[in-house]
Amino acid sequence: MNRLTVLPVEFTTGGITNTIYPAIVCDETEMVLFDCGYPGFFPLLTSAAAAAGFDCSKLTKIFITHHDYDHMGALAEFKQAYPQVQIIASCIEEPYISGRRKSLRLQQAEDIYPTLPEEQKDFARNFQQKLQEMKHVAVDCCVSDKARLDCCGGIEVVATPGHMPGHISLYLHDYKTLITGDALTMENSDLAMANPQYTLDMATAKESIKKLLTYDIEQIICYHGGSYTGNCREALQRLVR
Ligand SMILES: [Zn+2]
Repeated sequence: MNRLTVLPVEFTTGGITNTIYPAIVCDETEMVLFDCGYPGFFPLLTSAAAAAGFDCSKLTKIFITHHDYDHMGALAEFKQAYPQVQIIASCIEEPYISGRRKSLRLQQAEDIYPTLPEEQKDFARNFQQKLQEMKHVAVDCCVSDKARLDCCGGIEVVATPGHMPGHISLYLHDYKTLITGDALTMENSDLAMANPQYTLDMATAKESIKKLLTYDIEQIICYHGGSYTGNCREALQRLVR
């Protein structure tokens, strides 16, 4: 059965309820998950998948859009539970995901730490510790722009650097759907650029959005905010203007 489903995963931190939106696509032979949540989110994700009718023990691939702890924090838990799962990420993000190179997010957090007001420093130290404790996972398959997997109706890698240098989005041909990770976000039911505070190179991020205009897109799935099903072309044009 061919199917694409967004999995809203709701959680509460510091009294605030939040939701992330990983997605699953499957066909007769493959079940593919796109990003996998914060550290400790394995039970939340697998139960969200079960509620949508997916048995995660049948997962064959996990795409990681980029190295950030909300997108790959639970990756080690998935790999431990399902060793057969193939981990796919961009060649540029691979050294960070596998731990061969220091996390760029951690480097950013350390760089801005001395400039923070005292009252933010506890939170900042806590954030750095979380990044340091994140488990590394070997990437089984490194991909570059325009790489295409012939499963689930065709999955094409779209390099969308900016938020992170090796950030990728995935275009699902049969579904005319773009999975954007953090290249885009949904805010107040509208498409927006991801938070500039966490985007390492804003000019490059905008160039990446321009590139998306070359795809025939009917749905954009944002990891933060969920699905956008309005006029995607117009929304993207507005962002690059
Ligand atoms: Zn991110």
